[in-house]
Amino acid sequence: MHNHPVLVLGGGQLGLMMAEAATHLGVVVDRLDTATDQLIPGTSNLRVDTDLTVLLRRYSVITAEMEHLPNNELVTALRDSNLWANGSAFYILPARNRQKSLLDEIGVNNAPWQMLQVVDDLPAVHDALGETLIIKTTRGGYDGKGQWVIPRGIQHDIPPSAFGELIAEQKVDFSREVSLVGARASNGQTLFYPLAENHHHQGILRFSIAPARASSHLQAEAEQMLTKIMERLNYVGVMAMECFEVDGKLMVNELAPRVHNSGHWSQTGSGVNQFDLHIRALSGVVFPKVPSFRSTLMMNLIGCDYHPHWNQIDGVHCYWYAKEKRENRKLGHINISQIDLGDIQGKAECLRPLLDEEHRSMLDLAMLRF
Ligand code: AMP
Repeated sequence: MHNHPVLVLGGGQLGLMMAEAATHLGVVVDRLDTATDQLIPGTSNLRVDTDLTVLLRRYSVITAEMEHLPNNELVTALRDSNLWANGSAFYILPARNRQKSLLDEIGVNNAPWQMLQVVDDLPAVHDALGETLIIKTTRGGYDGKGQWVIPRGIQHDIPPSAFGELIAEQKVDFSREVSLVGARASNGQTLFYPLAENHHHQGILRFSIAPARASSHLQAEAEQMLTKIMERLNYVGVMAMECFEVDGKLMVNELAPRVHNSGHWSQTGSGVNQFDLHIRALSGVVFPKVPSFRSTLMMNLIGCDYHPHWNQIDGVHCYWYAKEKRENRKLGHINISQIDLGDIQGKAECLRPLLDEEHRSMLDLAMLRF
């Protein structure tokens, strides 16, 4: 039997990890480099010219590894086809204002917000939302880009051209950030990973610890919230929900209609990882029963050089994306999974001397969280 072949829009590491996970499911997963309109077969790095007719004939379902897709002719035609999965999620979630309106509509707690049309509205928005605002572009910002923290009355550097495409959010006084990654099948079945606890620095995810410490009281609440969202969008596949914990309750920060960096821990921490689950949902392979989980530290490798000895340490798994090195660019990640959180510390001690100063201090910070 052949399961439905899947095309992933995007030629980055997330699609590659989907293709890799699919190899043991008997599912063909190829990727489309949306910058060049070339096809990348399976886990190869070949680039093959293609066209719309071939793509529509060859695949049964089309998904994406990123929510901000280019509007070029081929991508637009693929999104207009009936193979495109999750059209409404990809229409609503990439625009923060639409995403937050949806959350408000279905009663899912999220940071209070308003549109910010013109600079003169700032004082009234401060009156409504508080002394410090987080201003975000409605589209396109990620990893802390397109975001400004604005205390009342302070000179700011938001470009005038951005107004009209901005939202203002209340600055939330959270105790920590957690995320839930889960999947929904076309028959409505859902499956969730345990919550992960995430640490950001300069708007970029640095590490996740899963399962998040002392989070059993939040798990059911998080699952209900994400179920409500996925059902409303009739969503099929993996979705990620990033939340703030505020006074023991969850508040959604952001939703992503895709596999997510804070779910990378599942590659070694779960019998079925998030990439596998996404492909199962889309290609009609049954979900596993409840997978087992191991405590995991996932640390991103950002703007650094590859160290050949990372993968020499038993129990330490390095995923290197072979991307060009750039400051603040995610170039890989390291997973350490053990039965017990305490055992991770021993492995981290072996890894520590092989890291540069910045990553060493992130690892030290992670260890303090255990
Ligand atoms: P985002 O790009 O929306 O995921 O934001 C990146 C990071 O900025 C988050 O992970 C938080 O650490 C911080 N942040 C975003 N929105 C808020 C908010 N409303 N209140 C406080 N911190 C925020």
